[in-house]
Amino acid sequence: MVKYVYDFSEGNKDQKDLLGGKGANLAEMTRLGLPVPPGFTITTEACRTYMEQGDLPPELRVEVTMALRRLEDTLGRSLGDFYDPLLVSVRSGAKFSMPGMMETVLNIGLNDASVQGLTKFSGDERFAWDSYRRLIQMFGKTVLDIDGDKFAHALDTMKHARGVTADTDLTAADLQELVEHFKGIVRDESGREFPQHPREQLDLAITAVFNSWNTDRARLYRRRERIPNDLGTAVNVVTMVFGNLGTDSGTGVCFTRDPSTGKSGDYGDYLPNAQGEDVVAGIRNTLTLADFEQLDPASHGELRQAMRRLETHYRDLCDIEFTVERGKLWMLQTRVGKRTAGAAFRIATQLVDEHLITMDEALERVTGAQLSKLMFPQFDSASEGRVLLGTGMAASPGAAVGAAVFDSVTAQAWAAEGKDVILVRRETNPDDLGGMIAAVGVLTSRGGKTSHAAVVARGMGTTCVVGAEKLDVDVVKREIRVGKKVVKEGEVIAIDGSSGEVFLGSVPVVPSPVVRYLEEGLDAALALLPADDEETAELVRAVDRILTHADAVRRLRVHANADTAEDAHRARIWGAQGIGLCRTEHMFLGDRRVLIERLILAQEDAERHAALDALLPLQRADFIDILREMDGLPTTIRLIDPPLHEFLPDLTALSVKVALATERLANGADVDPAELERDKVLLAAVERMHEANPMLGLRGVRLGIVVPGLFALQIRAVAEAAAQRIKDGGRPHAEIMIPLAASVMELHLIRDEAEKILAEVAAAEGVELHIPIGAMIELPRAALTADRMAGVAEFFSFGTNDLTQTTWGFSRDDVEGAFFSEYTERGVISVSPFETIDRSGVGRLVRIAVEEGRSARPDLTLGVCGEHGGDPESVHFFHEVGLDYVSCSPFRVPVARLEAGRASVVTGGGDTR
Ligand code: PEP
Ligand code: MG
Repeated sequence: MVKYVYDFSEGNKDQKDLLGGKGANLAEMTRLGLPVPPGFTITTEACRTYMEQGDLPPELRVEVTMALRRLEDTLGRSLGDFYDPLLVSVRSGAKFSMPGMMETVLNIGLNDASVQGLTKFSGDERFAWDSYRRLIQMFGKTVLDIDGDKFAHALDTMKHARGVTADTDLTAADLQELVEHFKGIVRDESGREFPQHPREQLDLAITAVFNSWNTDRARLYRRRERIPNDLGTAVNVVTMVFGNLGTDSGTGVCFTRDPSTGKSGDYGDYLPNAQGEDVVAGIRNTLTLADFEQLDPASHGELRQAMRRLETHYRDLCDIEFTVERGKLWMLQTRVGKRTAGAAFRIATQLVDEHLITMDEALERVTGAQLSKLMFPQFDSASEGRVLLGTGMAASPGAAVGAAVFDSVTAQAWAAEGKDVILVRRETNPDDLGGMIAAVGVLTSRGGKTSHAAVVARGMGTTCVVGAEKLDVDVVKREIRVGKKVVKEGEVIAIDGSSGEVFLGSVPVVPSPVVRYLEEGLDAALALLPADDEETAELVRAVDRILTHADAVRRLRVHANADTAEDAHRARIWGAQGIGLCRTEHMFLGDRRVLIERLILAQEDAERHAALDALLPLQRADFIDILREMDGLPTTIRLIDPPLHEFLPDLTALSVKVALATERLANGADVDPAELERDKVLLAAVERMHEANPMLGLRGVRLGIVVPGLFALQIRAVAEAAAQRIKDGGRPHAEIMIPLAASVMELHLIRDEAEKILAEVAAAEGVELHIPIGAMIELPRAALTADRMAGVAEFFSFGTNDLTQTTWGFSRDDVEGAFFSEYTERGVISVSPFETIDRSGVGRLVRIAVEEGRSARPDLTLGVCGEHGGDPESVHFFHEVGLDYVSCSPFRVPVARLEAGRASVVTGGGDTR
């Protein structure tokens, strides 16, 4: 029989799939003996069943009854009891944290009777009625789908009538009256009475949490975070403890280390006399933990112990939610905390130095995505004339410059027009998610490091500054006021998510210290830092240590896609161990385009030879430069790939030009007849070569077979360049790669021609040339006939861009913009297959080709040079299938190095030969 309900004492932290993150960690804290309010977790499986069947499974109702009775027996109180009521909160908790995305309902069990019991328990009538009105408000909004403004408005009206401004100034009698009013709203808006039966409240709240899995904002968040839609959420039913029972109560959030710098210590916010989400919502400005220590040293001491215990147990930064009820500490939640990219590296090495984790584990704790974030530029602190508007808390690093906007809708609209915007709010709430995604930065005037804005922005990697209190954000007037200064919507501001500074106008940016380290080495990068910038120095050292470790453990080599000597130079500095793809087509553009045009148009051999002879020295010089940069390292040069008409003028433009000139000539205007004649010949050629589907037409190896002399020219240039390098004392490792082959016969034809040329050049130059000839595997047929292809090719390089295009039949230049968002929305794809390798389709072809290729030629070298070579998830796949190297753009080389190392420690050695 399935088990849908687990008491906290039954589960553990490794059951996140079933119990969700929150449930699994509550169970773990219970196991550790920490003070967790008793409760139980309803599994994600129950949610999935509910989503399939549209109703709570009957077994679930029974199990909830049993769990509830156990809870009541443990506490000696019963749900909604008149004298001594047990009240519970119903909290969502999916496998992956989705801050603020789903529902929570507090104070379940309160009704007209038990509000009396709560009065007795608390000795505070005002508190009891306030709790009851909060329940009706929250329940009405989240469970019964009533517009929350209706309740808020009623509350405001009451305050106005009583002539008070703060909720806390309302009396017990006021709140009792408000409860009646709220019940009226429920009746009018939902057509039903507010449910008095505690169990009915509970069941409806559970259903509401299940339903909240599928709200638009939750789906949007998951799409962005790549969380699958079918996981479902767990529901935690937790005994209520109250942080709003007076000044000896309160609620807070803390981290065992600073989540934005990684610095070890206690970080957190505490809000006395507050309940539930008040801290995270950033509604009131909070106290620090140091203030909390002053206020309640005993609870603070207990909290510190729990923090240390958790960090030692999880061996990582933990974030914690806690409540103090009349001097008694309760742990409401913990999890391995989200952190900024810089903090991830620092914390990982700190934990190594504290002997809590190994270097392998440190490598697992960071990601390529985090490393690439650290490679972004930062504001130039030396730039003059910056106008500082104010300083808030540095919540998520980065340097963002954009137009200030004051609501989510405007942010999305302006971003859709291509503008960079910074979303400015007093505080954010989950409805702002769309705007936060659209914005390059988020700025709030209230809230702490754990406010909604901070948590969400950090999760998304968006630059964020929170709690910039000096800024008076007026979302109605759409302006920020700072003293006498007024910043209107649309004016440019700049925010620094590492320092918390907010500037008026644009601020210049400088390269990141991590990039400096990658380019100039550790010592040089450290020497360039200001002496007191220990934080950045620690970061650079941490990146160096982890990247060095990744290099030591990875099996995959990392090459770069580089077409010029400059790119090759950069790639090498950043750690590339070769060039996996040197595209040669750009070498035929610019001044050289006329030469290739002549080659294409040549009617006779003599003309063709003249064009080829002119191209040869230019192409040879290109290759000499690149081979010099890559001396000693493999340099894979791909023969020309795109359709020839790409080197010719545009068909429409040329047709119009010829038509106009012809007409003007007929009208006796001054037209150069020779030029017109040339244009006509050109037009005829362009028309002849026009293709409806050029990507599937005369390109790649097909071109090399059809256009005499073209590939021969390139092969000769490679051979002569290599010969020249050898004579100059270099160690060239050129390789020749044939694009877009589908048949082994294509390879034979080119290979035969190439071998002749290589032998000729070697003889003529008096050097020995070892230039391997290989094939790109970028068509399904090539992959499926890999055994035969490997008979002719000495290496394979998977061109996963074209392989994805031809496997899916997706035009790579068109589909991503055209309908991928709809496809993601409808669940056809979870991420673009052009970005992350489609393991089951395209990946399967790669696997087949690897196995068959290697069985035919055991020493076949295997690599990938499509865009996927620099994508973290895909790198893991290429490691698993046993490729020898990945090749990616120079900027992504460090990311690929790191991920290749992670792949080694996560999955072991991968398939090796
Ligand atoms: C590929 O198809 O994956 C590839 C690397 O070649 P290109 O992108 O130049 O077509
Ligand atoms: Mg290709």
